[in-house]
Amino acid sequence: METTILDQYKTIVMILNQKNEIVFANQAFLRKTGYSQEELIGIKAENIITGFDLIYANKFGQTYIKTKCGDETPYWAEVSEFDDGNQTGLILADIKMSGLDPLTKLPNRYLFTRHLQRAIDKAKETNALLAVLYMDLDRFKFINDTLGHTYGDLLLKQVSERLEKSLGSGNMVARMGGDEFVFLITDLHHEKDVDQRAASVLNAFQESFHLKETEIFINPSIGISLYPYDGDEMETLITNADTAMYRAKKNGHRKIEKASLDISAGSFEKLMIENNLYNALANNEFELHFQPQINLKKKKVIGMEALLRWNHPDLGTVPPGEFIPIAEETGLILPIGDWVIENACRKISEWLDAGIENIKVAVNLSAKQFLQNDLAENIQRVLKEYSIPASCLEVEITESMMMYDIDSATNMLNKLKEIGVHISIDDFGKGYSSLQYLQKLPLDTLKIDRSFIFDIDTNPSSKALTNAISNLAHALNMKVIAEGVETEKQLKQVKTLRCDSVQGFYYSRPLSSEAADQYLVQFKGRGKMEKLTS
Ligand code: C2E
Ligand code: MG
Ligand code: MG
Repeated sequence: METTILDQYKTIVMILNQKNEIVFANQAFLRKTGYSQEELIGIKAENIITGFDLIYANKFGQTYIKTKCGDETPYWAEVSEFDDGNQTGLILADIKMSGLDPLTKLPNRYLFTRHLQRAIDKAKETNALLAVLYMDLDRFKFINDTLGHTYGDLLLKQVSERLEKSLGSGNMVARMGGDEFVFLITDLHHEKDVDQRAASVLNAFQESFHLKETEIFINPSIGISLYPYDGDEMETLITNADTAMYRAKKNGHRKIEKASLDISAGSFEKLMIENNLYNALANNEFELHFQPQINLKKKKVIGMEALLRWNHPDLGTVPPGEFIPIAEETGLILPIGDWVIENACRKISEWLDAGIENIKVAVNLSAKQFLQNDLAENIQRVLKEYSIPASCLEVEITESMMMYDIDSATNMLNKLKEIGVHISIDDFGKGYSSLQYLQKLPLDTLKIDRSFIFDIDTNPSSKALTNAISNLAHALNMKVIAEGVETEKQLKQVKTLRCDSVQGFYYSRPLSSEAADQYLVQFKGRGKMEKLTS
């Protein structure tokens, strides 16, 4: 090969013999590392290229070059064989020029997808396994909004450093944008090896982060997809890992979920659920359960959240987390949502007839429902049909539903407010609301997400954030409900932080319609609320 032409390149190029010893290094290489050609000739590549073996095996990867003065600079390496395999060319692209995220110095989406594509191509040839891990940070947006962008940036940098350290070389971590990171894991021999890799990513979050004077604990949610099981194309693998991550997020904190178990990843189960869902309404398979909400000052039940249950003769009880996303996808959520509103109103009227007053029933609205122009009119019609005051009904929407199209959301919320129903924001703190909008919207209640309450007595940042939400809500004239209170310790904490009400297993799990009646009657008989043991 005519090597002088390689000296014209700005990219680092080196050529290795069969023993992986350097036989040539171009001028760019010499300039950037400080070595002379003579010093390099005959040196084994692994002595100056970190993780060379793996890069050689994978044909690409992130690496560090040890410069003469001992610095380690990051590069992207691509390996190609020529001369009938007698020589190997190693091209090292300056990471900064070719798709590096400026803040974290990690590869960006572009670089990641390029390398993933190459890895897939190679895995197809060699029947190898690959994993894509999609990760995001719980409540990052919230930290960003409350502490400011400087802190958010600091956190992202520190997280990136830890993530890089947590990976073996040859694997890759990239920043997709915001607080989303994605990993390409290639050193897998067995499917279950990925668990270990995911665990070491989680471990990187074991210790707190120090942002100037503030100490923050943060948890990631991770979704995993495996080639070839969860897809054999780049897009599919990324999407499925992303979907699994959303499920992980929904299930709580520090969670890892696999796409192969994910029903929304297009599996057989999903099809089963979808098929059966079409008949569920007609077959009367839905049921509402009710979970009490207790006001801490008044020690009274002030509301019940209506939670949908699907009892299928063969599938058993399918949890809402599994069928609601499918109902959303298929549009079935609209008739199902109508059914929920209607049945919640029926329950309200039953309770009013029985003399149980001042109980609001909260229904969860889905995104599709919330986008229906006639939602407010429909609700009003049902309220009228059952002759119940609008103030007995509360709708729960999520932050993402508001933020999706803030103008339409504002319109809809104003309409709902006009007819007199209460409005609460569900799972608050976990989503992406811009705090700025909160004061402009006619909201009554913030429901603090369960993930804050879960470790409120052990994690200072959960406590600090709950405190911040509580103060914020009160400053904006809203009430606060703490979701998912399970223990006395948690209850104590949320009391101290002036949450108005709680909802959670500590007081009661969601109850069947009859059990809810009993709960209310029992509670009425005792006057003030205390923990009822069944
Ligand atoms: P959500 O609206 O945040 O409802 C609260 C969920 O947390 C319920 O799960 C409830 O059982 C659970 N939960 C309550 N207290 C505790 C606790 O102390 N510890 C723990 N670990 N969990 C607790 P569920 O019933 O499985 O509902 C899950 C989600 O499904 C709901 O979250 C809501 O987003 C959705 N969903 C439920 N019913 C409906 C509905 O009628 N329509 C729509 N669109 N979504 C619904
Ligand atoms: Mg809810
Ligand atoms: Mg909730």
